[in-house]
Amino acid sequence: MSNKEILLFDTKSRKLQPLVSSNGKNLRIYSCGPTVYRDAHVGNMRTFLLGDLITRLAKFLNYSVEFIQNITDVGHMSEDFVEDKILAQAKAESKDPFEIARTYEKRFHTDLKTLNISPADSYPKASECIDLMHDLIAQLIKSNNAYVGSDDCVYFDAQSFAGYGAISGNRLDSLKPGHRFEYTEDGAKRFHADWALWKAAAGRSEMIWDSPWGKGFPGWHIECSAMSLHYLDKFVDLHLGGIDLRFPHHENERAQSNAAINQEAVALWVHGEHLLFEGRKMAKSTGNVVLVSDLTVRHIDPLSLRLCFLENRYRSQMDLSWDSLKAAHLLLQRWRQRVQSWKGDQQVDQAAVQRFTDEIMADLRQDLDTPRALQKLRGIEKSEIISAASKYEIFIAADKVFGLDLARQPYKSELPVELADLLEKRVQARASGNFAESDRLRDLLAENKVVVRDSKEGQSWDWLI
Ligand code: AMP
Ligand code: ZN
Repeated sequence: MSNKEILLFDTKSRKLQPLVSSNGKNLRIYSCGPTVYRDAHVGNMRTFLLGDLITRLAKFLNYSVEFIQNITDVGHMSEDFVEDKILAQAKAESKDPFEIARTYEKRFHTDLKTLNISPADSYPKASECIDLMHDLIAQLIKSNNAYVGSDDCVYFDAQSFAGYGAISGNRLDSLKPGHRFEYTEDGAKRFHADWALWKAAAGRSEMIWDSPWGKGFPGWHIECSAMSLHYLDKFVDLHLGGIDLRFPHHENERAQSNAAINQEAVALWVHGEHLLFEGRKMAKSTGNVVLVSDLTVRHIDPLSLRLCFLENRYRSQMDLSWDSLKAAHLLLQRWRQRVQSWKGDQQVDQAAVQRFTDEIMADLRQDLDTPRALQKLRGIEKSEIISAASKYEIFIAADKVFGLDLARQPYKSELPVELADLLEKRVQARASGNFAESDRLRDLLAENKVVVRDSKEGQSWDWLI
């Protein structure tokens, strides 16, 4: 393994494979993005962080990267396959569907920024790529991979694509009719496993477009084929998404893209495992959904979430809890303090810095072994042999990939004015010797999650998390 080679587990071949630039110029990476009908939860963020980790690592190793992530703002049907997710939310909020999409798209970008997730090179929106999808669908009809059904919807002919099922293992002959893996009415398609590329508007009046097959809207899977082939110039070195997208989304996308270009369109399919919260699946219906904003409300540094994810391997299901977030918060605070204290003009041992940084990167290059890499950092922190200045350099180098902002001051969310007032009053109470009042104010602050400490230097405070 050269010291630039990144190995990743490819879902299709079920093996570790090197990430390679097929055009010799850049790594072409595509990640399925959010469906913008609600705030992304921390589970979604785990998958988005996977893309960030890989691109940061690749850039650290001097690869040039082209990273595309789509925004699904039309065509993603709800779990019961009855209604478009955006339209359903628009109805629930009594708003225009595009307003819903733009609102949640904006919040998605805010969350990415909060979590230090570097922006993609482009975020194409499904609603702005309708022409691309039309062209692709027309091409698939021409090559006999798609047909217009009796209901004026265009379907992909699953049996026309020999390699169907390679990603998920769901071969066509084992997919039973009636299995609800696609949201189309039976009868209009030729084969039960065919799926819609273009849906006729029928009774729908919003988010519909003219097309050569009549007014309608795209199926969900066609957008990712159209966008990845267009924006990445007909080949994807690495395609990312959460494990739930393996089937049918990625299986169908692969059939569409491969049929269109007559060869394998994606070199590596990498899937991140799901995140559970306190032992349960994250679902709105059970009230078990955690957002990035829920962390800041509790005064937890949002980058603690990054650290929690890094403590686990991306291919293992992971259970997040408030306790693990608090522990990560405290570790981050400690590391930031240490990094500040190591900063100085002491002698840096460049050879040692290089060696330890290479070792950390080697763990990451081995299918993103982030827990092992973090373990190395802990060892370096405690080492009595490595100089403080060298520790500083190693932490700063590693942080380019970890993205934990280790060089900044410890995190402290702002104190509201009312609480700042109480703190000030307590200083005055102590100055005038009114210790009963000072204790009362301390208790009052504690009720508001502010811990007060007294020392020779005076009063200091911190959030109780
Ligand atoms: P969505 O906005 O629902 O289309 O999902 C966006 C991304 O988040 C997709 O790649 C999903 O596979 C992924 N995802 C959804 N739920 C989870 C979860 N609980 N843990 C990790 N990734 C998830
Ligand atoms: Zn996709």
